[in-house]
Amino acid sequence: MQTEKTKTPQKKEEYLEYLCRNCRYQFKRKKSISVVCCPYCGKKTIEERGFNSAQKLLDESSERMFPS
Ligand SMILES: [Zn+2]
Repeated sequence: MQTEKTKTPQKKEEYLEYLCRNCRYQFKRKKSISVVCCPYCGKKTIEERGFNSAQKLLDESSERMFPS
């Protein structure tokens, strides 16, 4: 059961989406960076938005910030 590749090029960095429950500010950070406080309001009300988990409740904002 070995699915991990030994050589993974680090060119493509993974980003995680976060949402502040206080001010509803949405932002992205690199996966390697642990986000504690909201960069906007500074509160620790950060919620991690998983891509795999079915979270459909945030479709209210039609604004999607995918890196192009
Ligand atoms: Zn905030």
